[in-house]
Amino acid sequence: MSRNRIITIDGPSGAGKSTVARLLAERLGFEYLDTGALYRAVALYLRRRGVGEDVSDETIEELLRELNIGFSGGRVYVDGEDVSEAVRTPEIGHYSSVFSARRPVREFLLSIQRAHAERCDTVVEGRDMGTVVFPDAWMKFFLDASLQERAKRRYLQLQRKGINVTMEEAVRDVQQRDERDSQRDIAPLRCPTGAVYMDTTSMGIEDTIKKMLEFIEKQAAGSCTGY
Ligand code: C5P
Repeated sequence: MSRNRIITIDGPSGAGKSTVARLLAERLGFEYLDTGALYRAVALYLRRRGVGEDVSDETIEELLRELNIGFSGGRVYVDGEDVSEAVRTPEIGHYSSVFSARRPVREFLLSIQRAHAERCDTVVEGRDMGTVVFPDAWMKFFLDASLQERAKRRYLQLQRKGINVTMEEAVRDVQQRDERDSQRDIAPLRCPTGAVYMDTTSMGIEDTIKKMLEFIEKQAAGSCTGY
């Protein structure tokens, strides 16, 4: 078990986890780990190797043996190449959700995620942070929002990056990922035991962070480490 303070943020697609986690880490002076970026990087790598949805676990395992993946300073790397932008396309979003349901992919990333957070106090965000990867985390959050709101956020995010999708496509994408992420057999999306559940449908980023900091301060006051 890690002796560092780990704050986990889980939740469905488009709930605003990445932005909130990054800013929260900045305010607290913690490291930040975006595990969705790791799943996206694996998906990009597998796609570049010509892998489709019907690939066997054995082939995935074999290919992952040759993969060197890294996350540093908010950027994600595949064999030393910065793929932070390349992993943000709707296609890779789709495949990251498909491949993340496969056991060899989850096993491959489990130790990488834990090793990353071993080094220092870290804010980690994803789908199974508080349930599977860091069940003994110091503080756990679950960020949620309505389907329409999450699709709108995803749509605006892609527009800003110059990627054209319609609002209908954004809704469909978020809906399909919700289904896949919460219905898979391994590490399905769940609100972890002991997590603070927050519905951010009508909350801005700043309000969300403010509220989270209040919970964190309470937690710090009750633990011997404190801020
Ligand atoms: O958070 P983001 O949308 O970047 O994640 C991409 C995909 O990676 C998700 O749809 C989910 O299927 C998968 N994922 C996961 N477990 C995590 C983080 C992401 O299965 N901890």
